[in-house]
Amino acid sequence: MKHLSIKALIGILAVLFLNSYSNESKAQKVEHVFEKGQLAPSKFFTGNVYVTGLIENDDVFTTAGGEVFFKAGARSNWHSHPAGQILIVTAGIGYHQIKGQPIEVIHKGDVVKCPPDVDHWHGASKDASMSHIYIVPNTEKGIVEWKDAVTDEEYLKLN
Ligand code: MN
Repeated sequence: MKHLSIKALIGILAVLFLNSYSNESKAQKVEHVFEKGQLAPSKFFTGNVYVTGLIENDDVFTTAGGEVFFKAGARSNWHSHPAGQILIVTAGIGYHQIKGQPIEVIHKGDVVKCPPDVDHWHGASKDASMSHIYIVPNTEKGIVEWKDAVTDEEYLKLN
């Protein structure tokens, strides 16, 4: 009898724990996983852009990464990455453009590969903000080479 009641008690406690855990999860509204970050320099970005560093490159992991939050209308300058870059869109709607190609609309969940040494820019869409994680591999080759700002004319050239 004693053996059974302990089992029953554990069962009841487990159910109570799981119920309270799932209720708590439902109650939490999670919009941003990471901190908003630091305001990015206007030298390299147009509009309000915030950068949170997440992965610092070192001798073992020659990879840098972080999250960038672009308010609507905000974007990077034209730039290239000597070893390329991977973007993972974590929120909102944005634009990405490789030089000579049309602007590509990107959404939460999209993954974009920017090839090495190719001029491109990325940012929010005209009306909605966008956050993406960036991953820069092989940082021994360099991280980023900044170029001119993306003009309003270039930015609004979405067909
Ligand atoms: Mn880039």
